[in-house]
Amino acid sequence: MVREINKHWKEPRVCPVCHQNNWAVSAEIVRLWTARLKNAYPCVNMVCQNCGHTMLFNAAILNLLPEGKS
Ligand SMILES: [Zn+2]
Repeated sequence: MVREINKHWKEPRVCPVCHQNNWAVSAEIVRLWTARLKNAYPCVNMVCQNCGHTMLFNAAILNLLPEGKS
């Protein structure tokens, strides 16, 4: 997952909140549900280990989903 994100995320890869560069990337794809729970976006989440700011990358766009999943 990190490799796919780094292809798109240009340096410096610093946190927009605290300007540190200390990220943790989720080991699994997470789901971001719409308010009415009718749809969920598959995402990779990255969490700044200094301030907790979280960024989401769409896993479908990064081609990280198994065939036929969205
Ligand atoms: Zn931060």
